Amino acid sequence: MPLLKELVSYFDSKFPTAFQENYDNSGLLYGDLNQKVTKALVTIDINLEVAKEAKIKGCNLIISHHPLVFKAVKSFTTNTEQEKALIFCIQNDISILCLHTNVDNHPEGINGMLASMLQVEQNSILKPFNGFLKKLAVFVPEAHADTLRSALFNTGAGEIGKYDFCSYNTAGLGTFRAGKGSNPFVGNLGEIHTEQEIKIEVIFPSHLQSAIVKVLNDNHPYEEVAYDIYPLDNKYSMAGAGLLGELGKKISPELFLNQIARVFDLKALKYAAGTGNDLQKIAICSGSGAFLIEDAIRAGADAYITGDLKYHDFQTASGRILCIDIGHYESEIVFNNLIIDILNQNFYNFAADKSECYINPVCVFSPIGV
Ligand SMILES: [Zn+2]
Repeated sequence: MPLLKELVSYFDSKFPTAFQENYDNSGLLYGDLNQKVTKALVTIDINLEVAKEAKIKGCNLIISHHPLVFKAVKSFTTNTEQEKALIFCIQNDISILCLHTNVDNHPEGINGMLASMLQVEQNSILKPFNGFLKKLAVFVPEAHADTLRSALFNTGAGEIGKYDFCSYNTAGLGTFRAGKGSNPFVGNLGEIHTEQEIKIEVIFPSHLQSAIVKVLNDNHPYEEVAYDIYPLDNKYSMAGAGLLGELGKKISPELFLNQIARVFDLKALKYAAGTGNDLQKIAICSGSGAFLIEDAIRAGADAYITGDLKYHDFQTASGRILCIDIGHYESEIVFNNLIIDILNQNFYNFAADKSECYINPVCVFSPIGV
């Protein structure tokens, strides 16, 4: 049985909490990090019934997609459904881990699963993060450049799109004078020293900064390491909202709508008609994705699949892009399989189960004989 901290840390490396949106509250909401996890219950939402289901099934961890707590909880009574579920979890030692927009914004998260279900080959993030990249420039003696560069790469620096091991290296002369009390790696106390150095430049995502700085200090021979870190305005192509991909061949809007209804087992689906042309380039965003309609159009997508669209969203898309609302729950229910597969592949001798009592709160009525 893994410790809770092992599961939390695994999921944080797989779907970094730093990938979540500002409004979100992903991460461990309740639990003792040193507690052994007997079994996990995976669900889209947590309510009192789900919490009771966890207890009945012997699960002392619930992993949910939507956080049970978004805003500060100022009282713990049983006045609201949220408080009832929280109190039940706390009283029964059931930890709560939420993996929300950090999974949504990851290419191997829910959107990635939706793409493979629809045989869409994913190419890129629809709206990559901005302001997420930094650059490190470090000055290192020539003989130590290879070791340091490799250590930085192994920590996640130097990845640009589908390329890794990216760096720029320039040779130059570094100068310094070791002062009283110092212990210089080269040169003598009180003398100006000139050293042949390499300036290594690499980019890295900002959530890795403390790991990068640690590796930098651990693998650099100097007592005082000279380096610069500065923010970049470049987009971070590895994560962000929605994704963009292509079907193997063009198909008609009607065929595609049929395929979606079949794959997601939908009795009906709402859409705004696009241009009527055959489709190949497809944009996808699980959950509530109205905010990406214009991005999908700008990216040249022929169709956009999402959930939770309002009348005016359909109006925005109409005639410009085939915009399909498959439903919020329907677009996210694959979360359960995604997390259970990850747990099965990475944690042996540990069981996880899907919630059976949490079902789609939105019902569709199909009249008979009409
Ligand atoms: Zn959602």
